[in-house]
Amino acid sequence: MAIWNLGSINADMVYALPHLPTPGETLAALDLQQFLGGKGANMSVAAARAGSHVCHIGAVGPDGKWAVDRLMEYGVDTRYIDQIDTPTGHAIIAVDRQGENQIILFPGANRELTNDQLGLAVSQAGSGDILVLQNETNMQGEAAKMGRELGLRVCYAAAPFDAEAVQAVLPFLDLLFLNEVEAQQLEHATGKPATELGVSDVIITLGAKGARHFSMGTGEILDIPALPVTAVDTTGAGDTFTGYVLSGLDRGLPMPQAMMLATRAAALMVTRPGTADVIPDLKETQDAQF
Ligand code: ADP
Repeated sequence: MAIWNLGSINADMVYALPHLPTPGETLAALDLQQFLGGKGANMSVAAARAGSHVCHIGAVGPDGKWAVDRLMEYGVDTRYIDQIDTPTGHAIIAVDRQGENQIILFPGANRELTNDQLGLAVSQAGSGDILVLQNETNMQGEAAKMGRELGLRVCYAAAPFDAEAVQAVLPFLDLLFLNEVEAQQLEHATGKPATELGVSDVIITLGAKGARHFSMGTGEILDIPALPVTAVDTTGAGDTFTGYVLSGLDRGLPMPQAMMLATRAAALMVTRPGTADVIPDLKETQDAQF
């Protein structure tokens, strides 16, 4: 089986500054570090590190070869990533001495995927494969519909939240991931709780309180508590959790086991600074002591 991820690829450019810039100010940065980021890339790396064959469907610009190389290094199948003329998506992250930040997000190539590219990739998927989507690309609605028609298991992380984008994919979903805030936003947008929107499986992550799975078929609710760790950076915890759940399901684990493994991987993630570059692999996740 395989996981097909229509997802963003970003360069996270982190500038260390003496203070956040004020309007009109020119400010010299003290340091610059560049990381691989984007919710899509994070999820692909997590699922690949967890042991799945992950085909990433996305786009980068002429400046994005390093990001594709990095994904490949982490075990992601990059054959379906196009190189186009628009610059690679990037986040300009300004961080001051207190750790306060300001972020400018440029979606770039992530929003320039084409129907042809998507169709070409998804037509290679086998029935029962997983297709996963988030909101940092274009084409989610088309992909969800295509995936459903081809008998794929269509999964979606509604982040960053966008009411219109969620409603476009909802009818085609098998599994919906939300964090606590997104669950509230979705309820506000639709007038119904996320668990009553016709999606057969819904997972709501609750940060340090863990995660909850709702199964429409059985009506069962499953709570998986988070593990007791000292959090230093929660960036990427949700993406790692999602990637690990999907990999568990892809490798035939029942939902509770997939979520327990994901909880271990996400717990490790919050103990370390960074995102895609520090996602733990399966062995590390299984062997960790909490
Ligand atoms: P997001 O980053 O998408 O908002 P959450 O904050 O809900 O996602 O976190 C996703 C998962 O990561 C949680 O379900 C939990 O298992 C784990 N997690 C998040 N924060 C912590 C924490 N402080 N301690 C331990 N685990 C955590």
